[in-house]
Amino acid sequence: MDSTLAADLFHSAGMRSLRADLALALRAAAHHGLGEGVCNHFSVEVPGRPDWFLLNPRGLHWSEVRGEDIVLIDAEGRVLAGAHPVEPTAMFIHGAVHRIAGKACVMHTHMPYATALTLTAARALDTTLSQNAMRFHGRVAVDAAYNGLALDAGEGERIARAMHGADVVFLGNHGVVVCGARVDHAFDDLYYRSAPAWRRCWPPPPGSRCCRWRRSWPRASPPRPSANACSRSCSSKACAGCCPDSGRRRPRGRAGQCGAVGRRR
Ligand SMILES: [Zn+2]
Repeated sequence: MDSTLAADLFHSAGMRSLRADLALALRAAAHHGLGEGVCNHFSVEVPGRPDWFLLNPRGLHWSEVRGEDIVLIDAEGRVLAGAHPVEPTAMFIHGAVHRIAGKACVMHTHMPYATALTLTAARALDTTLSQNAMRFHGRVAVDAAYNGLALDAGEGERIARAMHGADVVFLGNHGVVVCGARVDHAFDDLYYRSAPAWRRCWPPPPGSRCCRWRRSWPRASPPRPSANACSRSCSSKACAGCCPDSGRRRPRGRAGQCGAVGRRR
């Protein structure tokens, strides 16, 4: 009975629209570099069925996901409708956050700059650091008790209980979970979550005069420049060092500028 109901619901106009929204959010997150390989998931509760969810499938890169790829699952992660299998562990975090924290849309990512902050002593972003960070003031929780990969429901339940109503939770040594009442609201927060994290991680220019709060910046090495954004002055040898695609001889721009545009990986 449930399988017939699930199939009918899955192909309804409302579900097609919701699947398209979730797929678009995944592709947009991939476009902005907020994903990691084929890991991590976005899920959204089915309206009127709080025990059923839409989820991205196993093995597809976020940039590849279309509405027809999204699958319908139950709270235990069993596929009710859809063309793909799901990652068995996906619902260990998502299921608990939906059920315990009462969030309709849950986006879990290992996006690089926000995840870098989870490696610090504070584990999270100071929400008083910038205008964009301030939009999260009072909406962020920290779960510092990382116990390894989420291989059972206990990890997700601890994360969900640590949220205490927050929309964003930083997972120590792990990543972030961003939640919202709707897919577009959650994605908007996910996007603006990444920007202040990037500013927090990026060191000030050498010799620049720092504001008070910048004095607390960690003395870490700067992140390697992206191959897509390499524009530093260098010799061809140094250029090879700063561009990941270093095995190739790269065209040089004027006056020793690295004018190469790296192939995206
Ligand atoms: Zn994770």
